[in-house]
Amino acid sequence: CTWHEMKTMMFIIRSDHTLNTICLPSAQQGEVESCTRRKVKRLLSFQRYCHASRLLRGLVPHTPGSLHLLDDDYLGQAAHMLSKVGTWNFDIFLFDRLTNGNSLVMLMCHLFNVYDLVHHFQLDIVKLHRFLGMVQEDYHSQNPYHNAVHAADVTQAMYCYLQEPKLAEQLSPLDVFLGLMAAAAHDVDHPGVNQPFLIKTQHHLASLYQNTSVLESHHWRSTVGMLRESGLLSHLPADMSGDIEAQLGSLILATDISRQNEFLSTFREHLDNQDLDLQLASHRHFILQIALKCADVCNPCRVWELSRQWSERVCEEFYRQGDLEREYDLEISPLCNQQADTVPVIQIGFISYIVEPLFVEWHRFTDPSPLSLTMMGHIHKNKACWNNLRCAAHTPTHSPTEEPEPEGGDEEVDDEIP
Ligand SMILES: [Zn+2]
Repeated sequence: CTWHEMKTMMFIIRSDHTLNTICLPSAQQGEVESCTRRKVKRLLSFQRYCHASRLLRGLVPHTPGSLHLLDDDYLGQAAHMLSKVGTWNFDIFLFDRLTNGNSLVMLMCHLFNVYDLVHHFQLDIVKLHRFLGMVQEDYHSQNPYHNAVHAADVTQAMYCYLQEPKLAEQLSPLDVFLGLMAAAAHDVDHPGVNQPFLIKTQHHLASLYQNTSVLESHHWRSTVGMLRESGLLSHLPADMSGDIEAQLGSLILATDISRQNEFLSTFREHLDNQDLDLQLASHRHFILQIALKCADVCNPCRVWELSRQWSERVCEEFYRQGDLEREYDLEISPLCNQQADTVPVIQIGFISYIVEPLFVEWHRFTDPSPLSLTMMGHIHKNKACWNNLRCAAHTPTHSPTEEPEPEGGDEEVDDEIP
């Protein structure tokens, strides 16, 4: 198997949004056909999403004999879940099943209604559905972690953070719009491998973005491509749509974990000096960046049952990369060796070095709020659970799969926030 074949097989990065103007004029017939097929597929998907959303609003009567994957029971349950979308124990996996894999589109449509964004920005509802359908479709459902359910989960967390009393009153409709859009699209078209992997395999995106924030730049430029293709913002003045695109970039690029310390120290400095002024658009933008970063890594802040599922998924994605590296004689990346890096060890490191330091500062920022108290409680409980599982793995008398008991009892943290 040649390098070229291997790359073709391994990276199904659909870069048509970013590279449309480059690839199309010289494209071979096959590529053109594939682009057309994708557009047709999108149209079909679009119809499916429209149909589903109409069903959710109860506008389409059930046709006897037809196959409805979303039957009334499921829709009723999904609608009921949406009425509690601001609670921290929202089960996005269940919501995704109830909506037949349309969690991201459904959630975004609901939140746009909650904030009356369609009216405020005079959005065309058909273009909005088309844009959201394209975003959801361009997540890779075969990725164990970086898929549309992760995007929906981050969006739901972002909504909870936008509702924080410290923030909610200060946010403009544009802030809310940007926060939700960035959350929904922040990992779009993620290939399921990380930046070092793209660099060492000389992927074209790595050279396009000069080995810096390669994935995040791609998520952003793909989003801009879809915004333009859907025409969602085409009715706005050019300077306004340009500003929205740029701000989305700044938000999405903030999720690059290699810039964690840069953001964390600026945040800490602001809190120490107590100089955050949320009347200033630039300060609100900074807090939106922090909120998106928090939402992106908030898995360990969720209740154990949800948190554990995310942990297993992200490790599965790491291990798949490690397996590819092993197969092709590449050096196995840190955390990607299934034999050496166990889920509990990876999670304890992730919580200690990434999640806890960030949420300690978010906790300070919120004064602290009931939600951030809940989240801190879950972080400590979940870390204790992973510690117990790590120890159990070394003790033959315990099964590593059995439910761990966190230290400090099993008192329930109140999840009904707000
Ligand atoms: Zn993410």
